[in-house]
Amino acid sequence: MKVLVLGAGVVGLATAYYLWKDGHEVVVVDRQSGPGQETSYGNAGGLCPSFAGPWAAPGMVAKVFGMSLQTDSPIQFSLLPDWQRMRWVLQWMQNCNAEKFRINKRRMQRVAHYSYACLKDMSAEAPITDFDFCQGGVLQIFRTQSELDVGRLSAKALEEYGVTCKLLSADEVRAVEPALARTTVPIVGALHMPSDASGDSFKFANQLAAFLNARGVSFKYNTPVTAILTEGDCVSAVMTAGGPLKASAYVVALGNYAPLLVAPLGIRLPVYPLKGYSITVPVRDRDATTQASIMDEHNKVMISRLGDRIRAGGMAELTGYSTDLKPNRKALLIRVVQSLFPEGLDFDDVAFWAGLRPMTPDGPPILGKTRWRNLLLNSGHGSNGWTQCCGTGKIVADIVHGRKPSIDVDGLTLARFGG
Ligand SMILES: Cc1cc2nc3c(=O)[nH]c(=O)nc-3n(C[C@H](O)[C@H](O)[C@H](O)COP(=O)(O)OP(=O)(O)OC[C@H]3O[C@@H](n4cnc5c(N)ncnc54)[C@H](O)[C@@H]3O)c2cc1C
Repeated sequence: MKVLVLGAGVVGLATAYYLWKDGHEVVVVDRQSGPGQETSYGNAGGLCPSFAGPWAAPGMVAKVFGMSLQTDSPIQFSLLPDWQRMRWVLQWMQNCNAEKFRINKRRMQRVAHYSYACLKDMSAEAPITDFDFCQGGVLQIFRTQSELDVGRLSAKALEEYGVTCKLLSADEVRAVEPALARTTVPIVGALHMPSDASGDSFKFANQLAAFLNARGVSFKYNTPVTAILTEGDCVSAVMTAGGPLKASAYVVALGNYAPLLVAPLGIRLPVYPLKGYSITVPVRDRDATTQASIMDEHNKVMISRLGDRIRAGGMAELTGYSTDLKPNRKALLIRVVQSLFPEGLDFDDVAFWAGLRPMTPDGPPILGKTRWRNLLLNSGHGSNGWTQCCGTGKIVADIVHGRKPSIDVDGLTLARFGG
């Protein structure tokens, strides 16, 4: 069967991989000039199934609105009227309670751990190894006693999900990550998730695309999709500037832009961009900087080692689709990294980036069938798309192929939003 995958981010490419493995004729379409050039370009690099969890959590409503009022806060919320945003925020608020959090977290954990296993299988099957993969574990570091107390609760919750983790004292933190011995920041402890990893999703996307291209998958870059055309209860083609493209099945993996293209088909996809920023800094002294990934809980900044660079990402702005770069965000990220790793990094050569996390209001992505028989979704991966892409790609390819996915997709489809 011929399948058109719309979007060449990590999600679209992972889907294309599994469709190709099933023997389908696959065409990947993207408006950019190559793979992974939008949100999959500069994310924080964390392959962290242990962290997969919703932004909608108990206490978050007060926190988000409170922090938005502070200057230089890592969270920002636009009060300008925008129906798409307001509707999303209302749905998000309805999920900010303990019961919904528990359900959503469990769903996200299910996909994320499955996805990590799929990534490992894929790396073993295909020669996609040069993406600065590092299984150095993740240290969620706490600067205050109250953060450590919350960490203790997280550890208990993770144990319930069967995730290996350990609370570490300040001395144990330095034993796991000796580079932190040089910081003057007071670290009171950390939660260690030894099986989590990191990697460069842009490098991964490029290698995967090259691998697939060499094996017959077609790529149409510089090809914006402007509309999805229907006939009866099926999609008949997608419209591009170069004319219509036809296939037997269509997978929408357009990140933040999926809702805009499926809305005219009567599909209300509750995905809204949550803007974040990252810096990438060259490493001068390998021993003076981190090997493990670090989540600085105080600043909500994730720091990953990507070969001879480190990447630090964070901030959350609910302000629309702009990816403009704000100098104060860059300064804050540099301050955080410098405070933890004062030596060994070249802060004269910092690359600064902003991207949009395609967030669902409850957290899990939206996968699989729609009311149009041959139109499938692989969308809404939020803060965890790099971690979740292989698993969700496999699930959607299974559904296209008519095979039952290996994990339960209950709570991962549009049905939970009444679609
Ligand atoms: C600051 C930040 C830090 C993050 N850190 C992490 C992390 O540590 N770990 C993690 O797992 N995740 C992280 N994420 C999230 C992760 O990057 C995303 O979830 C993931 O990249 C989404 O992939 P995607 O393929 O769905 O979207 P994208 O990569 O955006 O791909 C969508 C593609 O669709 C194309 N497209 C859009 N509209 C059209 C159109 N009309 N026609 C044709 N093509 C179109 C785009 O060009 C793009 O290539 C982070 C995100 C941000 C912003």
